[in-house]
Amino acid sequence: MKFQKPKGTNDILPGTVEKWQYIETVAREVFKVYDFHEVRTPMFEHIEVITRAVGDTTDIVTKEMYDFYDKGDRHITLRPEGTAPLVRSYVEHKLFGPEFQNPYKAFYIGPMFRYERPQSGRMRQFHQIGVEVIGSKNPATDVEGILSALEFYRRLGVKHTKLVINSLGNHESRMTYRQALIDYLTPYEAELSEDSKRRLQSNPLRVLDSKDAKDKVIVENAPSILDYLDEESASFFEQVKTLLDTLEVEYVIDHRMVRGLDYYNHTVFELMSDSPGFNGAITTICAGGRYDGLVREFGGPDSHDAGFGYALGVERAIITMEAEGIEIPTKQTVDVYVVGLGESTSAETLKLVQMARTAGLVAERDFMNRKAKTQFKSADRLDAKWVIVVGETELETQIVKLKNMATGIEKEVPLTDIYTDFLAQLDN
Ligand code: ATP
Ligand code: MG
Repeated sequence: MKFQKPKGTNDILPGTVEKWQYIETVAREVFKVYDFHEVRTPMFEHIEVITRAVGDTTDIVTKEMYDFYDKGDRHITLRPEGTAPLVRSYVEHKLFGPEFQNPYKAFYIGPMFRYERPQSGRMRQFHQIGVEVIGSKNPATDVEGILSALEFYRRLGVKHTKLVINSLGNHESRMTYRQALIDYLTPYEAELSEDSKRRLQSNPLRVLDSKDAKDKVIVENAPSILDYLDEESASFFEQVKTLLDTLEVEYVIDHRMVRGLDYYNHTVFELMSDSPGFNGAITTICAGGRYDGLVREFGGPDSHDAGFGYALGVERAIITMEAEGIEIPTKQTVDVYVVGLGESTSAETLKLVQMARTAGLVAERDFMNRKAKTQFKSADRLDAKWVIVVGETELETQIVKLKNMATGIEKEVPLTDIYTDFLAQLDN
């Protein structure tokens, strides 16, 4: 039998993992200046945490969850997204108390699991970087969140991003709109795709999101949710737009943009990439919005029942960087390579690399009893800055060769000096 990774998963190997580390580092740097703090929730949750928040009729819940019963007969799901777990933890730990940051500004980085048809940028185990700001109804929260996502891509060097925003209004507005949309779509019911027919009853706003070509034509003339916003909702959206204008952030409004999770209301947004490297295909690289009501859904207090968040896909960030020709260095390099010649030198060689490592340098040696020439090749491949040579003669005399690879200058140094102050030996 051949062992293979499960479909839709990836082994992230050296040579690639550096890209991941780089992206995570940039994210952490951005979040630091925004005063967002990391939260790590479990990879799996009681399934109700997700169904409650995400909605029973969303694709995630109906088709995409990895769920199972554990040995204690608990219904568990691998987390498909990060917002519901984070809000669950917020309420569970009563982070709305006076001693906590308010609004609570959190971020997470980690794997999510969805049973999807795998393709480029669509995996079954994928990785999200996400932000959640809980407890504030201030539209500046929404804008600050959007700005942090833009800043993340800016620091990565990604240029072809487009910010698309919309408002889903408050609950009342959405209910009025929902009916108007049903009234509009019902005459076309027979022509809709099977998925959309189903959604027309259960979750009509999702029809607007259909990828089916015929559905798209029908939806073209659907009423706009923006015409159904009540005063409160319209005013909130105006404030978000004004703040974006004040900060000179470019955006477009797409009144047909809804999000795939039921908990969203008011502001929703997506960052799309129209990088030339995608050859005309437009990819969503980040998505989020406001979710007032979710905290209460989890049993939290009305006083803190507001939230705004987003998630971006790490796989898609990498694809986007590749599409834009942005290079991340992935080469493995060392400071010091110790060439040990002959088996009798192995202990001294190990002592030398350990000494260099203790001094804070990256050090490597040979473990395969390779010839001198091959070991020097390894040192070259690793771009070693210094090479130490220890053979049987050097062991005997207790004097080793130290070569500066940049200048080519080689000198002989007593082992005692090396072990007393190695860094000083490198300086001169
Ligand atoms: P899509 O419409 O592409 O299915 P979605 O609406 O399901 O996306 P969200 O749940 O909003 O996506 O997730 C936010 C981001 O996470 C997406 O913009 C994308 O970058 C990433 N993402 C979502 N699902 C996947 C997946 N299966 N594989 C890789 N990345 C994903
Ligand atoms: Mg999806």
